Amino acid sequence: MSEAQAVLVAVLQDQLAEARAEIEWLRAALSELENSLTWHTTCLNCASLLDRSYDDYVRAEKAEARLAAIREFAEKCGYITHDQVEGVLGARAALRDTGPTEEGAST
Ligand SMILES: [Zn+2]
Repeated sequence: MSEAQAVLVAVLQDQLAEARAEIEWLRAALSELENSLTWHTTCLNCASLLDRSYDDYVRAEKAEARLAAIREFAEKCGYITHDQVEGVLGARAALRDTGPTEEGAST
């Protein structure tokens, strides 16, 4: 390979690397825009906020389903009664409403 050819190859490799980086960037931008379309917003920040909220929602739904299954199992096995479960959940809800006490929070 002549020196001129080597220079040309180096330039082309640089341009290829730049083009690849730009394609990656464009793909990420397109993906963000598609996501904002999915959420019917033109604001990418709102779209990502909605993403996180939806993830939290899904996590909460799964956790509640798991809790319900464990609760059903525990009640069926007689480890705990329905009234005991309601008592614990009520106390927990009251704690959440009033916030941590001066003795220290335990969540
Ligand atoms: Zn916004």
